[in-house]
Amino acid sequence: MSSERLVVSEMFYSLQGEGPTVGRPAVFLRLAACNLECSGFSYRAPETGEHLGCDTKLVWKKGKPYTFEQMIHEWQTQGWLNTFIHGAHLIITGGEPLLQQEKVAGFLSYLVPHLPPHPRSLSPVGRGMTSFPLPLSPQEKEMTTFSPPLSPQEREMATFSSPFSPKGRRAGDEGADTPPHDAKTNALPYIEIETNGTILPNEFLSHRVNQFNVSPKLSSSLEPREKAYRPEVLQHFVNLPQAIFKFVIQNEKDVKEVIEQYQKKFNIDNQRIWLMPEGGSLKDMQKKLALLAELCKQYQFNFSPRLHIHIWDEATGV
Ligand code: SF4
Repeated sequence: MSSERLVVSEMFYSLQGEGPTVGRPAVFLRLAACNLECSGFSYRAPETGEHLGCDTKLVWKKGKPYTFEQMIHEWQTQGWLNTFIHGAHLIITGGEPLLQQEKVAGFLSYLVPHLPPHPRSLSPVGRGMTSFPLPLSPQEKEMTTFSPPLSPQEREMATFSSPFSPKGRRAGDEGADTPPHDAKTNALPYIEIETNGTILPNEFLSHRVNQFNVSPKLSSSLEPREKAYRPEVLQHFVNLPQAIFKFVIQNEKDVKEVIEQYQKKFNIDNQRIWLMPEGGSLKDMQKKLALLAELCKQYQFNFSPRLHIHIWDEATGV
């Protein structure tokens, strides 16, 4: 029994709406509170018309403490734990989830023994690349036997189960699914953390999260630069092969800021950068889609839709 708690705004089962894994079924764990406000965004509360800026502020401002045990019970009752068998992701978001990162690490460890066993038949992409221990075929055993010893750097890399490298290697590429070697965490699903890139993740999360979706806030968010731009944190994420970067874009000036303040300054490969249209509602967002598509083509960045807004507009928790 665990008395440890996370302060949770909402939990739901849906599809990843943004970035490289868009469309993937996922259990969402939205944690309460954020260290930014992002009043420069255009979102207005649908009922009152009040300008809020951030489109999830109404949700992350509220939170309820859940013990780890209560969370697992809820996920079991909803059937969400079984979705991990077939490769559903676990997406930890906010607000800013790293505000509670020590508890997040504790919860991930607590989750492991409650997960159902996994069949071998799933593809690397479907099962989160390398998150589960599999028996080796005779051929694989032979390959393992003759593997040269790993250098310390390679050993460190082998603990990641990431589809990305600094060069932007993707799931399914040769060598992308390096088996994990730590029996304590190797039963976890594919874990994504959404973060605004202002808080350094701890050692445990830096090594165990499959994908960090880092979304630094540009000056158009109207956040004070000293709060929103943390070079030492950004450098940490740039050094993590499993981190990608995504930016909310209102106009070409924003794209130029991405290039000058992030891509060039930190030498981030364009393949690791996704641009998304700003807009808290479908109507607002649609006005910017065509412009953003052209900007992605012009500057060779990845385009990311915001699928949840296309499907559910302003609804949350769906
Ligand atoms: S960082 Fe994200 S969650 Fe926090 S206020 Fe800005 S948009 Fe909202």
